[in-house]
Amino acid sequence: MKKLLEVTNLTKAFDESGPVVDALSFSVREEEIFALLGPSGCGKTTCLRLIAGFEHIDQGSVSIAGEMLGSPTKHIAPQDRGVGFVFQDYALFPHLSVIDNVAFGLTDIPKQKRNVYAEEVLCRTGMGDYKDRNPSELSGGQQQRVALARAIAPKPKLVLLDEPFSNLDAMLRESTRKEVRAILKKAGMSALLVTHDQEEALSFADRIAVMNEGKIEQVGTPEEVYYHPKTQFVAQFLGRTNLFWARASGGSEVHTNLGPMNLNCKAKGNVLCSIRPEHLTLEKPTTQHPDEIGTVVAREFKGHDITYHVQLKEEKYLVHTDNRVIFEPNDEVVIKPLESAVILEGKN
Ligand code: ATP
Repeated sequence: MKKLLEVTNLTKAFDESGPVVDALSFSVREEEIFALLGPSGCGKTTCLRLIAGFEHIDQGSVSIAGEMLGSPTKHIAPQDRGVGFVFQDYALFPHLSVIDNVAFGLTDIPKQKRNVYAEEVLCRTGMGDYKDRNPSELSGGQQQRVALARAIAPKPKLVLLDEPFSNLDAMLRESTRKEVRAILKKAGMSALLVTHDQEEALSFADRIAVMNEGKIEQVGTPEEVYYHPKTQFVAQFLGRTNLFWARASGGSEVHTNLGPMNLNCKAKGNVLCSIRPEHLTLEKPTTQHPDEIGTVVAREFKGHDITYHVQLKEEKYLVHTDNRVIFEPNDEVVIKPLESAVILEGKN
């Protein structure tokens, strides 16, 4: 797919304390849903505001479909960037009806046709029956869909979504996420989502950029960033993981407390590894080898699965199993990796 949005070396500081967006480079392809994921304060919203044109750029550039929209010397106004926005609080006009909210931005369409088209877009987002209501007469999820209808109605090349699901309760959040993704995919639009919620980024986006302190640590598909994190921060931010040290001797095999692993490692010395709890399982000890035997210290029963906390020598491991494997605290167990661990950068 062709690149649509190109962000190059984007940098922004508000004061002397240093850049909050620090030399960010990434691109969003045509028809791609891309997420910027990171903890509160890492600079996600500022990045989105720079792309939208609500803030001026210190260094770097933003271009869409090959057209330069923002740089230190060029600033195209937000309304002229061909970009739609959905904000966390939806930002609907409270005094306008649902249909007027959607028709408002359709200035390119002759007045008499605006409402017909606005209604069509509302129907696409499942809100056709609510067109004459005021935003205050809608639930959060319904307002969210109106906000999306308003953002996509002018057929922008790109939709920017700033934590759009965070005001919805857990159940509604999941279903709305699915619906919004389907609407964007059907419309063939590109979208850039900002979120601090890893589950949201993993389930909503085609690719994710994981941000930390103004910088991107890794860009990849949900599976890549989750199962093949490159840094300790990415490994830990994406969900529960086991971090442990292993000894590499320059060959492909490294020696870990979980046994030898073939990690294709060129480094020598101590390397930090990560393996997700669901890539480990537990077995009853069959050998009397004391090195391999760990002890269950705690068990979290979660209905469809169980997380065991296992002490093995000086290290504690989390092991996620289905609920058929039942061990009790103090049981002796052997931890078996089902997949290889990954080696994290910068900790050798
Ligand atoms: P959250 O998830 O909490 O919204 P975020 O990752 O979106 O966080 P930003 O809102 O981009 O982070 O903020 C990054 C940093 O920049 C924060 O320390 C914030 O206080 C600071 N900041 C943001 N906007 C301004 C501003 N207009 N003036 C001064 N500092 C600002």
